[in-house]
Amino acid sequence: MAVSIHNKIVSGPEELDIPAHLSYGQFLFDQLKKGGDQKALICGETGNSVTYREILQRSVNLAVALQKLGLKKGDVVALCSENRFEFPITALAIMYCGAVLCTLNVTYSPAPPSASRTMRLTCVRWSCSSARSTISTGTDSFTDHGLHSLDKKISEITHILKITKPKIIFTSPITAQNISDCSEGSSVEKIVIFGDYEVVPGVMFNELVKETAKVEDFTLADVGIMDTLAVMCSSGTTGLPKGVELTHINFLTLTRHMKYYMEKSMESNNHQIKNFLALIPWFHAYGFITSFAVLANHLEIVFLVRFEEQLFLETIQNYKVNMMTLVPPLAVFLAKHPLVLKYDLSSVNEVWCGAAPLSREIQNAVTQRLGINFIRQGYGLTEVTMACCVDLSSKRRLGSCGTPAPGMKIKVQDIETGQLKGIREEGELWVKSPLRMKGYMGDPAASAALLDADGYVRTGDIGYYDEDGAFYIVDRLKELIKYKGFQVAPAELEALLLQHAGVAECGVVGAPDELAGELPTAFVVRQPGAAVSEKELVEYVAKKVSPAKHLRGGVIFLDEIPKNASGKILRRELKLLLQKHRKSK
Ligand code: AMP
Repeated sequence: MAVSIHNKIVSGPEELDIPAHLSYGQFLFDQLKKGGDQKALICGETGNSVTYREILQRSVNLAVALQKLGLKKGDVVALCSENRFEFPITALAIMYCGAVLCTLNVTYSPAPPSASRTMRLTCVRWSCSSARSTISTGTDSFTDHGLHSLDKKISEITHILKITKPKIIFTSPITAQNISDCSEGSSVEKIVIFGDYEVVPGVMFNELVKETAKVEDFTLADVGIMDTLAVMCSSGTTGLPKGVELTHINFLTLTRHMKYYMEKSMESNNHQIKNFLALIPWFHAYGFITSFAVLANHLEIVFLVRFEEQLFLETIQNYKVNMMTLVPPLAVFLAKHPLVLKYDLSSVNEVWCGAAPLSREIQNAVTQRLGINFIRQGYGLTEVTMACCVDLSSKRRLGSCGTPAPGMKIKVQDIETGQLKGIREEGELWVKSPLRMKGYMGDPAASAALLDADGYVRTGDIGYYDEDGAFYIVDRLKELIKYKGFQVAPAELEALLLQHAGVAECGVVGAPDELAGELPTAFVVRQPGAAVSEKELVEYVAKKVSPAKHLRGGVIFLDEIPKNASGKILRRELKLLLQKHRKSK
């Protein structure tokens, strides 16, 4: 079971034994049964908990109720909620019915204009100031050709609903108004509301789970392992926003990989992992996939609804958390914030970080502050069920996101010539993997464009590998900005800015920022005679898009936007201009 480099292709260990005779729903159903009266989920804030048996009973109740509502195999059901008990119960019920789960980011922008009140509420929970980092990672964007062809007033949710066409949407109270507004005139037949109050017309979740089903008599829908289990949103490298279709075999494989990683880690570090802190939102592939894999492997999950400094630290201390997954802004918090030193975090022995680059300095600082062996970086894309590489070695390779996962092959290609690169030579990463998505929903052209003739997926990331086959990500070929792990497509913001009467031309790039990763920053050429100000444009954008996409890096006015002969914006030149601008300040 070793990593090998052959003909300039780096291969992970051999693929593991996957329970490929089961659907993921059936696999989880069986694992929940085995979990019995063991605690499965604990809310870190309230201390309320549920056992595996209770989750199983409620998810079966809900599945039966959904079948009575007419839900069939292959129907799409959307779910828009922060982390709360109802979330996994709903996801499980959808899987048992053989339906397709589509998770929606709670910070997606509202349908104009009536949902703005709800969004403000949502933002209080999920957005951040520099002192309070949001840790969610989401994927939502309109890229190059996207926004131009869309109705100006279309919201992010409306767009995803158009792609995925859900029949039912589950929503938490904080997103209910937004969901209700966006669902008008869509495929949605029913809205199911979590919590105690019918904040919008719909069906109450609590009523549906009152159904008294017999778990022993329940039969799951018969689905194939290649069938779509979930649609998760990503913009990919080019084109319109896309729904990434992930299959049952993708999830079964990833869950098996997670078990392997945890076992390897416990073995080499001689420590125990008994519980897991779930802080990354479940609506994002990273949070969803890791938490379900952990649930299936019978670790206790302590979850948090939101990131709040003291609550986060208290939860680790009080529940003696062993393992957690982070995104870089959270690692920055752990590395730098004085509060961290006031808590006993000695129970933590396993920390993983992914979704965006983690600097060596921060990686080192967190390791020392927590007194742990190492932070394991992972690297992946939603298109390959999140996990391409994980650093499992005991070598403490700072800055590396590790070696290829079992069954995975990675090659590095020259961006211009496509020639394969050798050890420590930079190029674009291409990955071949059993975790590869089925495709982008309803977009076969974009799905095909992502693959080469040998079945490798284009990542759009620039990196290299070392003598051990460990990878280092150095840049992103694709133009996406990553704000606190959220993908922000410059083309979406450009299209929006161009709708402003005072803007003649514009280009958007990410300004490097230690806490957030990158801050969306606009270069703007004013319309002749227009006197539009920076403040005006920042506020204009903030009103129209979700928090991650706000122009936190500001607006810089220019006489001309650098472009190539075919009219494409030269973003690298804009980045150089940005550097100069910052230095001169
Ligand atoms: P998403 O599908 O939203 O998770 O975004 C995938 C993208 O996140 C990748 O293509 C990378 O650009 C970036 N990414 C994920 N993990 C890492 C990592 N460990 N280091 C650097 N970039 C990363």
